[in-house]
Amino acid sequence: MSTSESPVVSIASTSPQDWKYISEGAANIVFSYNGDPHRDPYFNGKVLRLRKSASTVSPEIQGFPPIDRLDDCDEPDDPIIEFQHKIIQRLIPSEYLPRLASIRVEASWLQDLAKLCDSDRPSHRRQKDGIDSTRTKAVLATDLVGGDALAVEIKPKWAFLPSPTHLSTSTFPIKTKTCRFCMHTHYRSQNDHSIPICYCPLDLFSGDESRIDKALRDLWAGWIDSNGTMNNIRIFAHGKMLKPTEPSIDLRALCDVLIPTVRSLLVHTPVLRTLAILQRSLDVLDIEGLSNLWALSHIQSPSESPAACVPPIGSTSTDPTISEWTNFIDTYLSSHNTLDHAHPETSNLRYYLLAYLLSATFKDCSIMLRINPSNSKASSDQETNSVTLIDLDPKSIDRLTRWEKLDREIVESYIGTEAKHCVDWKDNT
Ligand SMILES: [Zn+2]
Repeated sequence: MSTSESPVVSIASTSPQDWKYISEGAANIVFSYNGDPHRDPYFNGKVLRLRKSASTVSPEIQGFPPIDRLDDCDEPDDPIIEFQHKIIQRLIPSEYLPRLASIRVEASWLQDLAKLCDSDRPSHRRQKDGIDSTRTKAVLATDLVGGDALAVEIKPKWAFLPSPTHLSTSTFPIKTKTCRFCMHTHYRSQNDHSIPICYCPLDLFSGDESRIDKALRDLWAGWIDSNGTMNNIRIFAHGKMLKPTEPSIDLRALCDVLIPTVRSLLVHTPVLRTLAILQRSLDVLDIEGLSNLWALSHIQSPSESPAACVPPIGSTSTDPTISEWTNFIDTYLSSHNTLDHAHPETSNLRYYLLAYLLSATFKDCSIMLRINPSNSKASSDQETNSVTLIDLDPKSIDRLTRWEKLDREIVESYIGTEAKHCVDWKDNT
C-alpha cells in the first residue's frame, strides 16, 4: 500500500526529545529533527509532519479517511505524498517542492511528543486540537527552516480577479474590482479589528518589483501589528518561529535584510507566476459559474425551477481517487484550453469540480524562502537561497458547499463599502 519512493522507516529509532516544535496549521503540526546528527543521520535536515485531530474538524474535511475505517496495518501513506508525486509534480517542477517520504509512528511515541511540545504550542490551538495519536504513519519532509539560514514563509492566497463571464449582475461590479483576499480580510475584520488589512496578493503576484516590495512591506507591517500571528507571513531563525516582540530581535536590521532579499528571490523565481496561472486557469468558472453548472446538472426536468430540489454543491459527490486525479491532469494538460469555458457542458461537471478543488490547493499553499544572511545581497541564484512550495494538500470535495456560502457572505458584506481597487497582473500585460 505504500506509495512513497523510499522504504517506510520507523520514527521509533529516535526519541521524542530529538524533535523540536516548529509550527502548526489547521490540519498539521510540524517538528524538526534536533537529535544527535551522527546517531540518526537519516533524520538530519528533516521535519516530521503529523496530522492533528480536532473535536470540531472531521477527518474527512482534512482530506483523510477516518481511522476507524482502516485496519492499522493497511493505513495508507498520508495522501499528500502520493498527491505530490503523481499530481503536483506534473504542474510544479520538483526543484520547487520539498522531498516527502512516509514514516511509521506509534501511539505511545506520539503521546510522549504531545506532552513535550504542549508548552510550545499557541494556547488557541491547544484548546482546539492536538496530535492525532491514532495514526500509524506520518510524513518526513525536507527541513526548510533549520540550520543557520533565515526562513520566511508566505501564504500568498488568491492571485487573480475572476473572469467576469459567469458572475451575476450584482457580484460583477464588486468581484471585478476588489480581489477575493481583500474582501475576505474586510469580512473577517468586521468581527476582529486586530486583523491587518493592507496586504493585497495581487501586488505580490504582479511581477512588478515595486508592487512586490509594497506587498512585502504590508506583510511585514501585518507581522508586527499582529505580533506574528498573521498567518500570511511567518519568520524563522535557527528553526524557531520568531515573534516581533522578542527582545533579542533588532527589527530594523531584520527588515533591512529580509525585504530586499525576499523581493529579489520573488522577482527572479518563476514560482509566483506558475501559481497564479494555475489558480486562474483551474478556477475558470468562479464558484458562481461552478454552482450554476452544478444546478443545471441536477435539475430533473427542464420545467423545474433551478432552485428546487438541487442538493448543495458538492454534497452528493465523492472525493476523487488518485487515478481520477491522474486522468484529470491528462485532460487538463492536453485539452483544457480547447474547452469552451464560457459555455461549460454539464457532461464536464466532474472535470470542473476537480479543477476548482485543485485551484483551492494552489490558493492555500505557502512559499518557503530560505535566506543566508551572510549572502543577503547575493543574487537569487545563490545556492544558499531557495524557494519551495509547501502544503500542497488535496482538498476535500465536501468543502464546496461551505466555500460557496462563504463566497456569498464575503461579497454581501462588501456591498456598500468603499471598494478597494486591486490591480490584476493580467491588466498589465
Ligand atoms: Zn486585493
